[in-house]
Amino acid sequence: MAETIKKLDELVGLCKRRGFIFQSSEIYGGLASCYDYGPLGAELKRNVKNAWWKSVVQMRDDMVGLDCSILMHPMIWKASGHVDKFADLICECKKCNTRSRVDHLEGKEQGETSRHAQTAPTDDLSDKVCPSCGAVGQFTEPMPFKLMFETQMGANADDAMTVFLRPETAQGIFANYRNVLDSSRIRVPFGIAQIGKSFRNEVTTKAFIFRTREFEQMEIEFFCEPGTDEDWWQHWKDARMQWYLNLGIRKENLRFRPHDDDELAHYAKACVDVEYRFPFGSGDWQELEGIANRTDFDLRQHQRGMRSVTKWIENGRDTINTPLVDEHPDYQSGPLSFFDDQNRKRYIPYVIEPSAGADRGTLAFLVDAYAEEEVKGEKRNVLRFHPTLAPIKCAILPLVKKEGMPDIARNIYQDLRRHFNCFYDEKSAIGRRYRRQDEAGTPFCVCVDGQTLEDQTVTVRDRDSMEQIRVSTDQLKNHLREKLDM
Ligand code: ATP
Repeated sequence: MAETIKKLDELVGLCKRRGFIFQSSEIYGGLASCYDYGPLGAELKRNVKNAWWKSVVQMRDDMVGLDCSILMHPMIWKASGHVDKFADLICECKKCNTRSRVDHLEGKEQGETSRHAQTAPTDDLSDKVCPSCGAVGQFTEPMPFKLMFETQMGANADDAMTVFLRPETAQGIFANYRNVLDSSRIRVPFGIAQIGKSFRNEVTTKAFIFRTREFEQMEIEFFCEPGTDEDWWQHWKDARMQWYLNLGIRKENLRFRPHDDDELAHYAKACVDVEYRFPFGSGDWQELEGIANRTDFDLRQHQRGMRSVTKWIENGRDTINTPLVDEHPDYQSGPLSFFDDQNRKRYIPYVIEPSAGADRGTLAFLVDAYAEEEVKGEKRNVLRFHPTLAPIKCAILPLVKKEGMPDIARNIYQDLRRHFNCFYDEKSAIGRRYRRQDEAGTPFCVCVDGQTLEDQTVTVRDRDSMEQIRVSTDQLKNHLREKLDM
C-alpha cells in the first residue's frame, strides 16, 4: 500500500513539473479541490474525450452527439429528483467538527451507497472512525447535505429565479430527446452522447482529480424498447470495458462491480460500475464509470415536469416549493413517447446510461501509464500512454546545433505537425531530451544526426523499448502514421 501511495505522490509531482495538472489559483494559495490542466494535460484530456467521442459517436450508426448549456430550466432538476433528493448524508465529528459523508466512513461493512438510494438516517455510526482526528463513534445524527450549486438568473424581479449548475450532463440529453428525434432520421434504438462540465458541492473531495467540485462527464443515454433493455445493458457493459482496454489500461486493474440491491437508485433496474485499481483509498478499487438501466423513469418524470411549468409560474418561479403534478393516466402516449411506425406501437423508451468521468478517466490513464525504471544505473520516469492519448506524438531533435542539422529537423517538424501533434527541441544533451519526452509520454523521437547529412535517414526511437531504427526521411511520415494509426 505504501508503495502505491508513493506512486500517486510521485505522479502528482510529475504532473506539476511537466505541466499536466496544476492546483487551481495556485498563485493565490490555491482553491481546494479545483485543478487546472497545463499544456500537456490539456492535450491528454482532449485526447481522452476525442477517443470516447470517436468510439461512441463517430464509429456508430445508432448514436448522435449533443452539447447542452450548463444552466437549464430549474424544473428539469425538480423532475429529475435532484432538487429534492440529490444530497449526501453527512455527520459531524463532535471532537473536531469535521463533516464526512456517512457512506465514506471507514469501518463500514458494505460498499458505498448511491446518493439516490437515500440511506435512512438510522445508520449505526458507533464503530466509525473520524478520518480527520481518529475519534471513534463521536458523530452527530446524519443529516442531508444538498449537492447542487445554486445561483440567481436575471436582474429584473419578474424574471429573476434560482437556477442550478448542472450536477450531471444527462438531464440535458433527456430534455432534448424529442428535438433530436424530430430533427434527425434516427429511430429507437438510438443513443445521445454528451461531454461537458458538471458541478457538485462535494462534502469531501479526494485524491487529486479523482473527486472534485467541478468536473467533466462523458455521458450516454441510450433509448431502447422495453424488453430489449437487458440486452442493451449487456452490450454497453462490454463496449465500455473494451474501450478502456483498447486504450491500454491493464486488464488486471479493471473490473466490474455490480450494485447491491440496497445500493441501487429506486428507479434503476440494474447498475454496474467499471472500477479501476487506483493507488489510494481504503479499498483501492474505485468507480471510473457507472452503467445503469434507468428504465423509463426519466422520460416519465419529464412528462410530469413539462405539465408542472404552469404551476411553477403561478408559484412565482419557486422550484423548490412547486410540487410536480401527478402522472397522466395515459402517460404512454405522452409527448416524450416514441411511435414505432413499423410495428405500429407507441411506448416510452427505456434508457441505458453509461456515465463516465473525463477527469477520473484521465487520472486512470495517467496512473496506469506511469512507470519508474532503472536504465544504465539511472532512474527513468516514463508515461507509457497509448499513442492515441499521448499529448505529443513525436519529438524532432537535431543531435547538435550545427552542420545544418537544425534546418533539416525543422523542415521535418513543419511537415509532420500538419498530421499530428509534434514538438521540436534543440536544447541540451540528447539523452536529457529523450528523458524529457519519456516523462511527457511521447511515443516516438526522431533524431537528425551526422548520418542524415550523408544518406537522408533519421533515427526513430521507441519510447517503451528505447530501440532506435533508421528510417529514410521520405518514408518517415508514412512510417509514423502507421505506427500511430493516424
Ligand atoms: P462518487 O460516489 O464516486 O462521487 P457517483 O456514483 O455519485 O460518484 P455518478 O453520479 O454515477 O457518480 O457520476 C458518473 C461519473 O462521473 C462517475 O463514475 C465519475 O467518473 C464522474 N464523477 C462523479 N462525481 C465526480 C466528481 N465529484 N469528481 C470527478 N468525477 C466525478
